[in-house]
Amino acid sequence: MRVIYRLKHLLHRSRRRERYALLEELLRNQALTREQLLAKQRHDLSAIVRHAYEQTPFYREKYAEADVHAARGLPILHKDEVIRHRDRLVAADFDRSALKIGNTGGSTGKPVSFYYDAFKGELMRAGMARSYMWAGWKPGEKILNFWGARQDIKGGHGFGQRVNAYIAAEKTIGAYEYTEADLRGWAATIASYRPVLLQGYASILAELARYVIDRNMPMPATLRGVFSTAEVLYGWQRELMERAFGCKVFNQYGSREVPNIACECRHGNLHVFTDMVYLESVKIEHEHRLIVTSLTNRAMPFIRYEIGDSGRLKEGECACGSPFPLMEIGLCRSNDLIRTRGGKCFYPSYFIHLLDGLEGIAQYQFVQREPDKITLNLVASGRLRSETANALGERIRREVDAGMALEVVYVDEIKRTASGKHRFVISQLAG
Ligand SMILES: [Zn+2]
Repeated sequence: MRVIYRLKHLLHRSRRRERYALLEELLRNQALTREQLLAKQRHDLSAIVRHAYEQTPFYREKYAEADVHAARGLPILHKDEVIRHRDRLVAADFDRSALKIGNTGGSTGKPVSFYYDAFKGELMRAGMARSYMWAGWKPGEKILNFWGARQDIKGGHGFGQRVNAYIAAEKTIGAYEYTEADLRGWAATIASYRPVLLQGYASILAELARYVIDRNMPMPATLRGVFSTAEVLYGWQRELMERAFGCKVFNQYGSREVPNIACECRHGNLHVFTDMVYLESVKIEHEHRLIVTSLTNRAMPFIRYEIGDSGRLKEGECACGSPFPLMEIGLCRSNDLIRTRGGKCFYPSYFIHLLDGLEGIAQYQFVQREPDKITLNLVASGRLRSETANALGERIRREVDAGMALEVVYVDEIKRTASGKHRFVISQLAG
């Protein structure tokens, strides 16, 4: 078997020369010291700012009053601007017709489309491969993906595609909608495919983990890591996955527009990839918002981009020895917060724990559309007992706001967002 893996891997390497060359470069970077990495980051930052200023009409105009040479204190790039000026953000030294268009799912309310080139795709894959190696994965070893975004799953199961998947040692299961039969099938696929890594949306992997635990299904000993991506990863989801799959969960942080921002190490700390991004945390309206600059995307530069997440940079070193600095991600995006008339904000985690211990609930979602009312949509095997529902409502009035009403609505399904994400708490308050 080892011989076949080696042959497959060599074939994959020869087809993906650029990706493997980039991976080697990234691995060299993580052998640098913190100081060397930060010096490289300063250099890359001023180079990308200069490039953007010289090559794109958008930044030339935006930075008319700014000190481009300092590359600091430049105005922030907002999502609205990317939406309005997409074509003017493309660098003149790139042929726009040769670029592809990608879309974000709009989990923070605003879908953004952007141009990208083949290099960005290869670098993203190389960056992910470096993260996987933190779990003990080696290039050529098998990965099983559970993907929630329909837009990413290419149709067709032709022979060519199967061969490609075989050579890449990677399989992707479309998980945008699923039944219990699907969960059973996926667990069986893990057992027979025997991957080294699982990767997918936190909500999907957590549901699969719960299924595996409930039925006491043995998982293969080949598993070395679970990579959670695209959604906020909650502690209870991590626990379920680690219990079900018998290995560590690694949270990845990045977006489609700016991938590979940070990843967790074995010690559970998030390290910022300073050779790929320049990350800042800026206090805006009582929140520490993350502002990210891609150091590598020359086709459509994203400079000081407000990505829509909250978080902070952290001082100090990690026991894993990685030179990459630390950060923490806020557990919510601003439109996941429930707000009261009195101006208090509640994190999704508060609402998620309200249902702890209740039986028969398959899925749920709290939605706030008005200041004084929260709707709880439930997919459940039966209705809540009236005492239970009343107690929930009372607890919310006691702990959240005395004027807050709770409405329980039973539904057949809860739709995922356009990019396949499940959101436990949504605020749809105007403004
Ligand atoms: Zn670490």
